[in-house]
Amino acid sequence: MIESLRELAQIDTLLERLSDHARVETLTTVEHRGHRFPVHGVVLGATDRRLPTLAVVGGVHGLERIGTRVVLAYLHTLVELLGWDDVLTRALERSRLVFVPLVNPAGMLLRTRANGAGVDLMRNAPPHPDGKASPLVGGQRLSSKLPWFMGDPGAAMEPEAAALCAFVERECFESRLAVSVDVHSGFGFEDRIWFPYARTRKPFPNLAEVYALERLLDVTLPNHVYRLEPQARNYTVHGDLWDHLHDRHANSSASSIAGERVFLPLTLELGSWLWLRKNPRQAFSVLGGFNPMKPHRLRRTLRRHLPLFDFLHRATASPERWAFPDPDARERLAAAAFERWYA
Ligand SMILES: [Zn+2]
Repeated sequence: MIESLRELAQIDTLLERLSDHARVETLTTVEHRGHRFPVHGVVLGATDRRLPTLAVVGGVHGLERIGTRVVLAYLHTLVELLGWDDVLTRALERSRLVFVPLVNPAGMLLRTRANGAGVDLMRNAPPHPDGKASPLVGGQRLSSKLPWFMGDPGAAMEPEAAALCAFVERECFESRLAVSVDVHSGFGFEDRIWFPYARTRKPFPNLAEVYALERLLDVTLPNHVYRLEPQARNYTVHGDLWDHLHDRHANSSASSIAGERVFLPLTLELGSWLWLRKNPRQAFSVLGGFNPMKPHRLRRTLRRHLPLFDFLHRATASPERWAFPDPDARERLAAAAFERWYA
């Protein structure tokens, strides 16, 4: 294994240990300069796709290695728990956990945000007519040499992005409730949990459910560190894969809006500017703006988000308690959410 892709070696080791418990597949194989890299999809728990599903994704942006490592830290704990924890084993009879720990292996090898073809996978979905993107950071079609390149107009989605979308559609869209969390880094002093839309400041249709989830998080983990907000509050982008998937879900046979099935795609954006402020020399390294470099800070980051993943699994596995309010309650939740984030 190439040294600079030790995350892929780590994934192989974990998947080997998971073999009795997980269904593992290669979603696509990325070829780059004579190397071939698999993009793995992992499914744990019940085989019935209608059961509640939590999806955990990392490594969409190659520079943000910490995202993949945070996902692998959770996967590692699950591997150990599956060896002895009857509580988890029973929970997984009625729920499902799916993972894509490293979406963009070529980008991680190259230490670039984009994939091997220079495309920013998180700007690569078909742009929506409603989209009002911030200049540059919101996606551009000028050149693959510049960041935030969306791909050529009319081109098919990049293989990594298409494989992720197909996997999420197949594994999450039939679920009564599906929550996804895609781990990124590179923005802000705080750890944020973003919900759609990324493309517009207009409120998204599942505000009531996301507000109910926030209330559940606040009372269950009152000292949690996260700021929950619409992604578009910070900047708006074209081609966000999670906006795209949420649209696809809403237009699929079961409507997601106050319907039988709910899909809540979340982004966990790790507040990497804090690592920079504490260790300003990091600014001079390619990876320094996006990853904790000091060993103690890395360990802190790897343990910091385990309670969140555990909470999200429990919340996802108990959908009737919060994600399907009656129409009056739903209206009140949506109004409170609007007041909180959009007024
Ligand atoms: Zn990112």
